[in-house]
Amino acid sequence: MDLDALSADELALVMRTAEVMEGVLRREVKKVPTLRGRTVMTLFYEPSTRTRVSFETAGKLLSAAVVNVSVQQSSVAKGESFLDTALTLQASAADVLVVRHPHAGAPYLVARHLQRTAVVNAGDGAHAHPTQALLDLYTLQRRLGSLQGRKVVMVGDAAHSRVARSNLWGLAKLGARVTLCAPPTLVPWDLLNGREQAPDHPFRNVEVESDLRTAVRGADVLMALRIQKERQRAGLIPSLREYAEHWQVTDEVMALAGPGALLMHPGPMNEGVEVSSSVAHGAQSVIEEQVTNGLAVRMAVLFLVAAPQESQRESA
Ligand code: ASP
Repeated sequence: MDLDALSADELALVMRTAEVMEGVLRREVKKVPTLRGRTVMTLFYEPSTRTRVSFETAGKLLSAAVVNVSVQQSSVAKGESFLDTALTLQASAADVLVVRHPHAGAPYLVARHLQRTAVVNAGDGAHAHPTQALLDLYTLQRRLGSLQGRKVVMVGDAAHSRVARSNLWGLAKLGARVTLCAPPTLVPWDLLNGREQAPDHPFRNVEVESDLRTAVRGADVLMALRIQKERQRAGLIPSLREYAEHWQVTDEVMALAGPGALLMHPGPMNEGVEVSSSVAHGAQSVIEEQVTNGLAVRMAVLFLVAAPQESQRESA
């Protein structure tokens, strides 16, 4: 599921559980026995640093056995289908399968076929990246408290970004005001036009502003997004140099947003394209904090999908 399917109570439960996990991460000995006897497998058909490493670390800190399936070294290279691979991992006693796949919907397809294994979406095509949005929301709530009425400006390739899509759902649920800032070719019009069909659609209030210097005025948060070259057809932007000239988040842009504004980026960054190096590593950046919070949030997600019912009740 993406964040659209989470109720406000479920979202709050993930946030509360992540706080508990953050407490565990502050201890000298960070390992807890919660998922002893459980097996977590990661199956990534696309590259990843942060997401894969944090799921692996999260599983290990909760004492699960963690198996990282290397797609290149597996029978996928011999032509085995995604579904057969997932069924094989279920038969190999995976309690949780963390899946990243280039095709939108792929994790949901296998989830429908697996009875004994919980599937966690770690990014599917341009569709969704639910745990990234959860860690972004967690980071924002830790920094700002309630997000009601806060202005979040997403800058960049929202059309191809699964992070943007998941965050649009999550931010709408928490009452934030969202502005998308991008060249018109990189605005997800399909998503936003759905607004007209349903008068109460949460994306009806999303604003679109192509001028970055106008968009950032009064912003509490700037969320820079990577240009998703791997998913774009050619010709959507004239060149990276020209894109950077208009849409790069620089010191000047941060100054327009104001000294209290936070800079986020899901990573990996292309410094010098969507963000300048100096703001990426500057005082307003919470980019490393996002990574650290990602660990707590993924521990929370693994706990909620795989911990024995008794320990879930105890922690509730
Ligand atoms: N790491 C994020 C993702 O997998 C963002 C990105 O790649 O731009 O979607």
